[in-house]
Amino acid sequence: MSIESSDVSSKTKEVLIKVENLSKIYGTGNSKVVALDSVNLEIYKGEIVAILGPSGSGKTTLLNLLAGLDLPTTGTVVVDGREITKMTEEEKAKFRAKEMGFIFQFFNLIPVLTAVENVELPLLLNKVPISQARARALELLEKMNILHRKDAYPPQLSGGEQQRVAIARALSTNPKIIWADEPTGALDIKNGEQIKRLIIDLNQEFETTFVIVTHDQSVAQIANRIMRMESGKIAEIIINN
Ligand code: ADP
Ligand code: MG
Repeated sequence: MSIESSDVSSKTKEVLIKVENLSKIYGTGNSKVVALDSVNLEIYKGEIVAILGPSGSGKTTLLNLLAGLDLPTTGTVVVDGREITKMTEEEKAKFRAKEMGFIFQFFNLIPVLTAVENVELPLLLNKVPISQARARALELLEKMNILHRKDAYPPQLSGGEQQRVAIARALSTNPKIIWADEPTGALDIKNGEQIKRLIIDLNQEFETTFVIVTHDQSVAQIANRIMRMESGKIAEIIINN
């Protein structure tokens, strides 16, 4: 299967995420770590961006700050016109629930909920009525080719199956942005290929913006732009198309 990156260049470039002077310093004194060092960047609507770089270069820190999961030491993050670095925790939680989906390396599914319950949870948190939430969850599981396992609990599923459920869950609220931290990190090649294909399809069908932290060069290849990180800075931006 060949995988090409989607073409964002023909679309009008609308800035969806704007980062200015973003720094994160952990600890103090001798144990001080500059994890992120005055980063500036823009991500466009409908773009797939890969964040590549060695372990410890600040990729996860950057992703967590972009998604408002952590507070920066300096700088601002504006997502879809809203400055998330100024929001309260409650405002951020609401904003995330409505506009963002998350896919992590270790899936983060809730083990005591079935596959379908995991997928409908974000909808219920958004106050979608249960019957509607269930219908949408089933539709997404079907799209991810995992509907036959809807009543299974995460520990009963393979890695690839869990990741498909996690993606269905990330998509449930039809978010504008999906953040993914090493989405193929725990998968074999075949499942990794499927996930990449899915990301491309979703990006093309819904114009979902993807920001993907990865070690995997083949994942980076599906991105419109690759931001290469080194020691807390964006060392290079590579445009794929
Ligand atoms: P990456 O995801 O690229 O591997 P991280 O963003 O996780 O890198 O980490 C960047 C740097 O910040 C590393 O030196 C790491 O040890 C440090 N770091 C990350 N999280 C914390 C934390 N909670 N407390 C202290 N240092 C941290
Ligand atoms: Mg990381």
